[in-house]
Amino acid sequence: MAKFTGEKIIELKNVVKIYDKEKAVDDVSLSIKKGDFVTILGPSGCGKTTILRMLAGFEQPTAGEIYLEGEDVTSVPPHKRNINTVFQKYALFPHLNVFNNIAYGLKLKTVPDANSKKGYRLLSQQEIADKVNRALRMVDLEAYGHRDIDSLSGGQQQRVAIARAIVNEPKVLLLDEPLSALDLKMRKEMQIELRRLHKELGITFIFVTHDQEEAMTMSDTIVVMRDGQIQQVGTPKKIYDEPQNAFTADFIGESNIISGKMIKDKLVEFFGHQFPCMDKGFEPNEPVDILIRPEDIKINPREPQFEGTVMNVVFKGTFYDITVVLDNYELSVKNTKAFEVGEKIMMSIAPDGIHVMPKDCITNEYKTEITGENTISIGDTDFEFVPNAGETFNKGDRVIATIDFDKIELTDNEDEGQISGNITDMIYKGKYYQVKIWLDNDTALIVDTPYDWNTDDRVGLVIKKEDIKVRHDEKN
Ligand code: ATP
Repeated sequence: MAKFTGEKIIELKNVVKIYDKEKAVDDVSLSIKKGDFVTILGPSGCGKTTILRMLAGFEQPTAGEIYLEGEDVTSVPPHKRNINTVFQKYALFPHLNVFNNIAYGLKLKTVPDANSKKGYRLLSQQEIADKVNRALRMVDLEAYGHRDIDSLSGGQQQRVAIARAIVNEPKVLLLDEPLSALDLKMRKEMQIELRRLHKELGITFIFVTHDQEEAMTMSDTIVVMRDGQIQQVGTPKKIYDEPQNAFTADFIGESNIISGKMIKDKLVEFFGHQFPCMDKGFEPNEPVDILIRPEDIKINPREPQFEGTVMNVVFKGTFYDITVVLDNYELSVKNTKAFEVGEKIMMSIAPDGIHVMPKDCITNEYKTEITGENTISIGDTDFEFVPNAGETFNKGDRVIATIDFDKIELTDNEDEGQISGNITDMIYKGKYYQVKIWLDNDTALIVDTPYDWNTDDRVGLVIKKEDIKVRHDEKN
């Protein structure tokens, strides 16, 4: 995780949220700097909204703590936290005009008053009007106070929702995919508006999106999430230039992710060639993932390193998107010049254009038990395996089965598979796709496949008995 310097406004400590049996948020620890524009970025279902709802107080963590300005607010109700939320659906009151939508919360608000017996009083009409008009000015809707909500465009409704949230002068503003209902042009305009508002208000913004470009343009800090866990925290530039794993690299910007091996410090091998790089600290010959951005591959340089053949060229306005094949890999390359399809080209990559990442792992490890003679259960289905010579297993023994990612075959005809599941994640790794499949009993398996599947595809899985390696689980 990124090293934290500066004044913290929010801190999550080992926060977990479990719905039924599903872990929506899995041990998240995060510090947020006062005044930052922080974006939580990740694919649908990764737990972004759940984190926001816990920050707002609409959900209670199953475990862990949440601090606001150093104070434990884990069980403090939403209205007692100095935090306001702008939702995906604006949730405006259709029967109230713009002014009254914004004024709604203020009419219930009390302020300290030494002259009152109770020690507090409601805001006066004038005070409310001043605050509402100020909020309307901030979102450029000064002339719209009297208008019906229904008469406003999506973008204008969005501004009303923001005005309603900032009128309470919160210390933190939470924004849950607030631009997702807008068309592209309006979205771009609102991105600039939100940046301006953030500057003017000087408060902390926590913004949730699955759109990496939006996160890159707007944020001071990006928190990348996957499956309820934080993958990386950093500035947009740091996350683009130095992603910590293949998931982040693939999620942020266009990338080539290639399997390779670290020969020694500052020397990596892929495409059957050795390349000088800047990375060190890996084991000699450690398998690694290599990230190369399309703009970092030079074509026909003075000192070429490898050769490929142009397979496809698409003009993108200011550059050409060129697909090059070599050694069964498909590389995406950006260049200002066009090349002919079929043309052989030479290429090179400077050491700082090569980014080496540890491979998450290459094999599935699955804890299960022996169900019969040389059979184990995977996701409620029995699979035969071939035991190591001399090793015996008895029914009920707790075991660990390992299956290499490239030893599972996928089929779109579910009936041909021994077991079925849904594809939830996919990363292109140059020569193959790495997909994550959730089996029907809530178990995930990773598969390396030559075919381009779609997320949410339903697939059958075929695993040969000789590819299932089984050992006793010593801990059980
Ligand atoms: P999206 O971008 O689609 O809104 P997200 O990253 O915000 O996704 P969450 O809404 O936080 O994801 O959901 C995380 C996981 O928790 C999902 O698998 C979701 O189905 C589950 N989940 C969220 N809220 C509930 C709930 N109230 N009850 C049961 N499961 C829930």
